[in-house]
Amino acid sequence: MAETKYIFVTGGVVSSLGKGIISASIGKLLQARGYNVTIQKFDPYINIDPGTLNPYEHGECYVTVDGMETDLDLGHYERFTGIQTTKANSLTTGRIYKAVIDKERRGDYLGKTIQVVPHITDEIKRNVKLLGKKFHYDFVITEIGGTIGDIESAPFMEAIRQLKWELGKNAINIHLTYVPYLKAAGELKTKPTQHSVKELQSVGIQPDILVLRTEMPLEENIRKKVAAFCNVDFDCVFQSEDLPSIYEVPVNMQDQGLDTAVLKKVGLEIGEKPALGPWKAFIERRNNAKDTVNIGLVGKYDLQDAYKSIRESLSHAGTYNDYKVNINFINSEEITEDNIAEKIQGQNGIVICPGFGQRGIEGKVIAAHYTRTHDIPTFGICLGMQMMVIEFARNVLGYKDANSREMDEKTPHNVIDIMEEQKNISNMGGTMRLGAYECVLTQNSRVFDIYKKEHIQERHRHRYEFNNDYQKEYEKNGMMCVGHNPESDLVEVVEIPGLKWYIGTQYHPEYQSTVLHPHPLFVDFVKTAIANKK
Ligand code: GLN
Repeated sequence: MAETKYIFVTGGVVSSLGKGIISASIGKLLQARGYNVTIQKFDPYINIDPGTLNPYEHGECYVTVDGMETDLDLGHYERFTGIQTTKANSLTTGRIYKAVIDKERRGDYLGKTIQVVPHITDEIKRNVKLLGKKFHYDFVITEIGGTIGDIESAPFMEAIRQLKWELGKNAINIHLTYVPYLKAAGELKTKPTQHSVKELQSVGIQPDILVLRTEMPLEENIRKKVAAFCNVDFDCVFQSEDLPSIYEVPVNMQDQGLDTAVLKKVGLEIGEKPALGPWKAFIERRNNAKDTVNIGLVGKYDLQDAYKSIRESLSHAGTYNDYKVNINFINSEEITEDNIAEKIQGQNGIVICPGFGQRGIEGKVIAAHYTRTHDIPTFGICLGMQMMVIEFARNVLGYKDANSREMDEKTPHNVIDIMEEQKNISNMGGTMRLGAYECVLTQNSRVFDIYKKEHIQERHRHRYEFNNDYQKEYEKNGMMCVGHNPESDLVEVVEIPGLKWYIGTQYHPEYQSTVLHPHPLFVDFVKTAIANKK
């Protein structure tokens, strides 16, 4: 069996350059050549995982099948490559330290003084190799969060340096930098890139490949200059221009030969250039879609990254319906009974977003009420579904004080209640009902028609649940519980059959929509929103 090759993706100059997209694109391109690939993200912060982070700090929290709360880049990895990531694909400094400290307490280090080098760096190295060892991947791509020069990332850089030394040709570094355009001077500047590479070299890492992010096309002489100053082969300097969509990045990188550069560097045969047929067909379909459908996103975080997977899922669904999806954020904190009609005007459908805590929930209830009574397609996800349930209790079942235990501990009508196994949990981190669980759909229901099967698996991230004491009452009044967990009987899906599309899921379908396999719920929801427009 061929040895596993390791690709380390680092970044310099500034953050937000799209290391995740580049990592995912490399994964996609190598996969297209028949290699078995996985991608992992190492984040240099001390939190054990991003589960407890505010979305303003870190955007959405992505959840893997096996219930790890991770960085949103894992979402890109899955959407691009269709691979399923797990706990082992996401690591933080916090987890590394915790593992080392636990070993120290067990006495595993036999009386040694525990230090960053070698103990922390060894633990990082062990984790880099873990996946490759377990499943014999041809390529393990490791993206390092943050930018070179951060104090936090120093142990990771040292680990990469050592691995490159130990593994020789089997480990390469791809460094992503930024080439700014100075309008006043009318020039593109390579100095920040030179400095960033120097910084890498100063910790003993010579990049093998450079990817220069730029808003302007880079002339050959600029790439030549960078190559010369940074000791990188000219045919290993690539540019990553702003493109109409992130999904064009793999094709653009393939056209420039990023994948062949990788193969050359690790000493593998180049072979034939894969056609990327289905991928290109997706892009073409996407570019051909001219008509737009408006989807209102009712949530509390006015931040692109906060609902990343939902946005991407909607956009996949648009493409498969030959429409462009125009996503309009509607801040639920600003919604009132008086302005809801105006806020929702022009939307062909709305998504009521997931979330935690009090802030903005009444706005979500008002939105759910408005769209239910005006028959506007509505998709409630997790907290969104819970708000649909609460709205129904207040306005149809007549329980004005209906609420979730999360928001009102004393409500006599706790239609959303804390899950039994969550009652005695005091730690906030990693203790929710997380990851994939089975759900059985009711035959003849709308969701059954959409999924076209009875048994589905979807990912979760919640502490509260639909209170089954009320199930009969809901169903008698028209809100049906059409998806259940076969073991706990937990309600996973509610719908109102008479309406165009009024479905709430306790789970998060957005984590499973990929470019080549869009999620059926999103596809059907967008389809209905389009019909609603017409
Ligand atoms: N706060 C709710 C719960 O914990 C919903 C969580 C979510 O939307 N992910 O059940």
